[in-house]
Amino acid sequence: MSDFLRYRQIHLDFHTSEQLPNIGGEFDGAAWAQQLVDAHVDSITCFARGHHGMIFYETQAHPERRHPHLQTNLLAEQIEAGHARDIRVPIYTTVQWDYYTAQQEPEWLQVAADGSIQGQKPYEAGFYAKLCLKTPYVDLLTAHVDDMFALLPAIDGLFFDIVQDQDCSCTVCRQEMLARGIDPSCDAERQRFGQEVTDRFKQEMSAHVRSRSRDCTIFYNSGHVGPRQRATGEAYSHWEIESLPSGGWGYMHFPLSQRYARTTGHDGLGMTGKFHTSWGDFQSYKNEAALQYECFQMLALNAKCSIGDQLHPTGRLDQATYDLVGPVYREVARKEQWCRGATPVTDIGVYNVEEFSGERLTAETVGAVRMLQEGGHQFDVVDSETRWDGYRVLILPDAVTLDEKIAHKVSNYLAAGGKMIASFESGLTPDRSDFALPAWGVRKTGDGPVDACGGLVRGRDFAKGDYVDYLRAEGGLAGGLRNTEYVMYMRGLEVAAVEGTEILARMVPAYFDRTWQHFCSHRQTPSSGELAGPAAARTGEVIYFAHPIFRQYNQNAPRWCKQLLLNALDMLMPDPVLRHGGPSSVLTAVNEQAVENRWVVHLLHYVPERRGQDFDVIEDVLPLYDIGVSLRLPGPVAGVRCVPGGETLGFKEAMGRLSFAVPKLEGHQMVEIALG
Ligand SMILES: [Zn+2]
Repeated sequence: MSDFLRYRQIHLDFHTSEQLPNIGGEFDGAAWAQQLVDAHVDSITCFARGHHGMIFYETQAHPERRHPHLQTNLLAEQIEAGHARDIRVPIYTTVQWDYYTAQQEPEWLQVAADGSIQGQKPYEAGFYAKLCLKTPYVDLLTAHVDDMFALLPAIDGLFFDIVQDQDCSCTVCRQEMLARGIDPSCDAERQRFGQEVTDRFKQEMSAHVRSRSRDCTIFYNSGHVGPRQRATGEAYSHWEIESLPSGGWGYMHFPLSQRYARTTGHDGLGMTGKFHTSWGDFQSYKNEAALQYECFQMLALNAKCSIGDQLHPTGRLDQATYDLVGPVYREVARKEQWCRGATPVTDIGVYNVEEFSGERLTAETVGAVRMLQEGGHQFDVVDSETRWDGYRVLILPDAVTLDEKIAHKVSNYLAAGGKMIASFESGLTPDRSDFALPAWGVRKTGDGPVDACGGLVRGRDFAKGDYVDYLRAEGGLAGGLRNTEYVMYMRGLEVAAVEGTEILARMVPAYFDRTWQHFCSHRQTPSSGELAGPAAARTGEVIYFAHPIFRQYNQNAPRWCKQLLLNALDMLMPDPVLRHGGPSSVLTAVNEQAVENRWVVHLLHYVPERRGQDFDVIEDVLPLYDIGVSLRLPGPVAGVRCVPGGETLGFKEAMGRLSFAVPKLEGHQMVEIALG
């Protein structure tokens, strides 16, 4: 993985209305840069042009867009002041949201299939009308880029914001679709065309930027990094995962996306915000423990850090914000030498269901990420483009159907000694008629019951448990579970074991499903106690669960669903990279720094809590003491110590594992394992 980004970045929003006075009037470059240096900031993304469409430097190409009350050549002075203190200053400009252009050139706006303007409506406050990347607006953007290269000091990088897949029925798009034999009235065809328009914009813009600069960074932001972004990854120099936990992304988006992004070969950073809520939330401050957690998790998961802020219209940085950022970035500065060039040591690949659904946070993948994090496992999130040969176990959560290409890849992976856990519909052919490969050891026997409207009930959540069944685990799969059967709220797939398949758990049906004609008590009908077909089965190195255990865990986190998964992993992989004796709220990461010949173990303990209706917060650091850690030994160990503090830890080597105890975990602790 390439590794060139700075670790301590600020993304300095500046979406500033044309109706505000005195823009940059209090900007003092030397004082501004000193505030950043004092807060240990080493890169700050500053604005050429924000969503209001106003420009914040002395433009020649677009004088009509220069902010009317700009008091100084703000962006140019920011770049010079930053460079004087060895601070990178990449440049932000907006793409699909531009209020000024939307007002001046309404024929460049994206049009929805119903003929309405996409995004912002005329009588709503905001700049969210979306511009079309098939119109002459792109020429304006290209001229804007040329203007910046002509007039601004050395350009470190360009951050193009709001570059999302289009679904546009404007005149230009419709004419082009018709000329190419695409039916614009067909949603799927039109959306595919829209994706192509966005992809081509990125590729052509990057080629243009490269004609001006061989090495400036280039990023296109759509608020996410996943399989869609990877498809045009060569247009990007790196990833920036915008993920403000309190701003709609939640605390699962960053770890899931980063575990995927880090497999693609690009260096990347995580981007949170200093705000209590989200962008534009002036004079609000995230709790310090939360900012620590978000930044230190970025380090643990091999990303650099970026914190979003918004500059006051006068150009004055808010000192209270940098009093919050400073102590966190001072710690990042102390820690980063144990992060530079580090690559994750992983056992498991989790298939990203986003590849099929297009959703950023699919229930199945989130459920899997949560269970594995809570189980202390080391894993990446992968898709059909990822190399799988480094993973000991591949997990296909609930909804990974196998077309010919993926089935072939799975066969090769298993033939090479790979192990697999699959659940529910994972492994079925795309038409869901039966399993694609004999390796699953089961065959589908039916589609199961339907609801009153004729819809299949399997895998769906019913508030009253209308269609539950029960599961009784046996042998190794029953470890840590009570000697009983457990309710499975979402109905499983009906399967039968083929000869030679080992049954690990049995289905136990309820007496009947809950309908208006027959029901019992407040919720699901009780168990009939009669053992039926397989609920979990093993063939060779493949374990299959008939229930959507990952989707279920994302829904209401039944501990038994997690226990079933962790037990299955123990059966396939009794020697995971890491085990620890701390609570399930501890997050772990194991990284290798090959150049330094060492491993670095990260332990994090911050507990998000839903204290208000809107989002989770973290206020306190909850220290933990004497946490036992065991590692699958990477080689002869020269020493174990806490870093950056330096406290040496005693350790033991036995049965191929290294064990030690971390005396105190106060938020985040790294442990260096020196090898050789
Ligand atoms: Zn269009």
